[in-house]
Amino acid sequence: MPPAPEMPDLQKVKTVIAMSENTDNATLLQNAYDEAGRRLSPKLPSHVKNYLIDIDGTICDDVPNEEPDRMATVEHYPDALEILNHWYDEGHQIYFFTSRTDEHRQVTEEWLNRHGFKYHGVVYNKPRGGNYHWIDNHIVKATRYKGKFTELVVESHHIEVFPD
Ligand SMILES: [Mg+2]
Repeated sequence: MPPAPEMPDLQKVKTVIAMSENTDNATLLQNAYDEAGRRLSPKLPSHVKNYLIDIDGTICDDVPNEEPDRMATVEHYPDALEILNHWYDEGHQIYFFTSRTDEHRQVTEEWLNRHGFKYHGVVYNKPRGGNYHWIDNHIVKATRYKGKFTELVVESHHIEVFPD
């Protein structure tokens, strides 16, 4: 006689599948709790990357906010389209993170859709001027775009950290 199926240990079941509020695509956010059982901010599964992709100068030629007419006509970079859609199809989260403002929402999203970009959302109003240094309690990896969109490779570089 086969053994009875094991009952799920509810103490071990700490994850609940939730729908992301940010997107109409189903996103798997895992609820998280501290040792005292208090809720923490939910997390994506570790194999799902949360990509934040710049627009101007990264997936198309740079268009400054001062010349918004060009946002409708700028050419996209085909290698960016190919890789980003590939990452989307692999199940990663694709968000554009741009210094364009809320005023540019319609022209930006029409342009993304017209060129076939697959994405989960656009985050506007990124501070302008570059020199970004992001501090977060979550893991952050940063990759500078240098003119060619390809799969990522691993390299070692010196970085600034808080001392232990
Ligand atoms: Mg840019």
